[in-house]
Parts: sequence; structure tokens; C-alpha cells
Amino acid sequence: MKTIRHDFPILNQTVNGQELLYFDSAATSQKPQYVIDSLVNYYQNNNANVHRGIYELSERATQQYEQARDKVQKFIHAQKREEVLFTRGTTESLNWLASTYGAENVKQGDEILISYMEHHSNIVPWQQLAQRVGAHLKYVELNDDGTLNMADLERKITDKTKIVSITHASNVLGVVNPIKKIAKIAHKHDAIMIADGAQSVPHMRVDVQDMDVDFFAFSGHKMLGPTGIGVLYGKHDILENMKPAQFGGEMIELVDLQEATFQPSPWRFEAGTPNIAGAIALGSAIDYLTNIGMKEVENYEQSLVDYALPKLKSIAGVTIYGPQNSEQHSGVIAFNLAGVHAHDLATALDQEGIEVRAGHHCAQPLMKYLNIAATVRISLYIYNTREEIDRFISVIEDIKEYFNREFA
Ligand code: PMP
Repeated sequence: MKTIRHDFPILNQTVNGQELLYFDSAATSQKPQYVIDSLVNYYQNNNANVHRGIYELSERATQQYEQARDKVQKFIHAQKREEVLFTRGTTESLNWLASTYGAENVKQGDEILISYMEHHSNIVPWQQLAQRVGAHLKYVELNDDGTLNMADLERKITDKTKIVSITHASNVLGVVNPIKKIAKIAHKHDAIMIADGAQSVPHMRVDVQDMDVDFFAFSGHKMLGPTGIGVLYGKHDILENMKPAQFGGEMIELVDLQEATFQPSPWRFEAGTPNIAGAIALGSAIDYLTNIGMKEVENYEQSLVDYALPKLKSIAGVTIYGPQNSEQHSGVIAFNLAGVHAHDLATALDQEGIEVRAGHHCAQPLMKYLNIAATVRISLYIYNTREEIDRFISVIEDIKEYFNREFA
């Protein structure tokens, strides 16, 4: 994987006079030259609107845009290409679901089941829906090690539960949830299963059919693709029975003065000119990841976690949130250093060219649940190395010594 690093031009720079060390891929990943070239190539050579023009450029753009849909289908192992909707990202996918499927199927007194480890984008759309229709939003508890409490899930789900929406991988705790098991439980109660794949799709092999999820959302920018493009996978039978939420060009079949007919799914859900370049470049990101192999991506990241977690844990005063053993921990590691505020630690790291996230990570209910205000978070990806982890650990030790000396 060392050679992979050279594919990412942004990494070859200094920040605050130090070699850049990027440890914030859970927020957004960096892009390989291959993906950047794909974006440039589209605008430089093929730019035209899709599904419209009867001319060479438009046909090329349409073909590449639709090819990207095929690539996504294959990547997540969807049964049909029509099950892949392009959106702006996970947030839009989940909001869209709440305001379409949710609004049509969740009634007063019904229940929506999520967990305490959700990102705000898998909380607030459901809160809004629950408030609007008078439904109950229920939260599954976590175990002490940050994993999902499956017994509590079984306790909380009822025949009034219409939607279960759980993150596949946490963006704070570094845990991966057993979505297949949860989907089985949801279906037993006739609820639909939605999974937030924002932190899983970039890092592991995902099979939507095997997990038997009804909907699955993720973002291109966290998996080496550009911003502003994402995916909502939906089972064909469900999508076929859903009404479009936005109306205009691209999604119609025939328009008369007083009424209109619509395209089949997924096109009737993609109103207006889509993010053509984004979808094509997401397809290129998928090519790039597939070329490495997702098993290889997973193994490499696990080897980085195996290396980093014990080192970080062995620093006195460091608290790690989520599982304490590396086998159970993904490449997202949230922690605090006693006596140093998370923001101060992140600022001190930035002075050394080390970019990490600090704060509530768009998971305020989780922070409250854990009884903390904020954490520092490192998140690793294929371009990170053991040498970077060594440097990071040594800088943390220096910062700790500095704070102990100056503020003891
Ligand atoms: N869910 C999870 C678990 C995330 O980590 C994120 C991004 N931090 C999102 C949803 C939202 O993704 P986006 O901002 O790309 O819509």
C-alpha cells in the first residue's frame, strides 16, 4: 500500500512547515489522481447533458453516467441497476427516505427505531418525521464497549415499528453493526431496514442482498470520490411503489397541461440535471478501490488499527471510546487525553501538520450518552502508513508533556 500514497497528490505537501499527515478520512477522503483525471476528462472532453441530446457528446455523457450506476450496482452487489439512485450523499438519501417512504408509511402512534450511535443525519430526519405525524422515535442502547445492545433492540422493537434505521459502521466508536441480523429482526416485525453505509462502503466489502437491507445510503466523497454525489440503494419492489418527491426535467415521461406521467425508477427520482461529473468520477473511485480489492483494503486498514490502537492506549491518560481490542475496532478511533481539551489537542496536532477531527462528530446524542463533551478522532484509510502512526504517537507524547509542564 505504500505505493498507493503516491497516487494522492494532495498528500505531498507541508502544513505549518511539517509534512502533511491526514487522519480525517471519516470526514472526507482524499482523491487519487485517477479520480481527479476522471472529473477533468469529463469536463474537458465529454461534457453534455444526459438522457436528452441525440448527438455524440450527450450519448457519451449518458453512457458514462449510466455506466457509473452499473459500477455502483456491482460494488454493493445490488440485484438490479434500477435499484441505484444517485443523490448528493448520505444526508440527502436519508432525508429523502424520511420525507417519502416515511411520510407515506409512518402514522400516528407508529415507531421508528434508531440507536444512540447514529450520526445526526440518521437522527434529525426521523425526529422531524416523528414530530410531524405523531410517531415515537426510539433509541437502542449500547453496551459498555460501544457495541450495539442487541437484547435492547429485541426489547424495543414492536409490531408498531415501521422503520429500523441503524448505521452500518459508527463514525465515532469504530464499531461495525451486524446489519444482517438486525434486518432479520426488523423484517420479523414487518418493519423496513435502512442502513447508513457512509462509514462502511469505503472500507469493506458490502453486499446489500446478503444483508437484506431495504435501503442503504452512502456518500461518494468518503470513498475517494468527489463531493456532492452519493447513493441510495433501494429494493426494486419498494421503489416501484414509491411516488417521486421532486418534479421537472429528466424524471417525466409525458407532460400535458394538467398532468404528467413519470419515468420508471430510479429515473423518476432523479429530477433535473444530475451531478453527471460526480457520478462518473464516483464510478472511477469504485474502479480504483476494486482494482486494489476491498478485502485488501479491509486487511490493510485492520493492520493499521492493530498497530495504532495498542500504542495509543498505552499512553497514560488516554481514554479510547468504543471497543478496546483492535480486532473489534475499525479505522475510526475516538479518544481523549486527560487534562487536555479535544480542541486544544487537535490545534496542537495541526501545528505539527497532523489533521484530525475534534468535537462531537455530528453525534451529540452519543456524546451525551457517553457523558462527554467532545473527543479527538483519527480515522485511517488506504493511504496512511505505520510511519505516520509512529509520528502521530510521538507528537501526542510531546503535546502531553508540554501541557503537563505548562498547565500542571
Ligand atoms: N452517516 C455517517 C455515519 C457519517 O459518518 C456521515 C458523515 N460524517 C454521514 C452520515 C453524512 O454524510 P454526508 O455528510 O456525506 O451526507
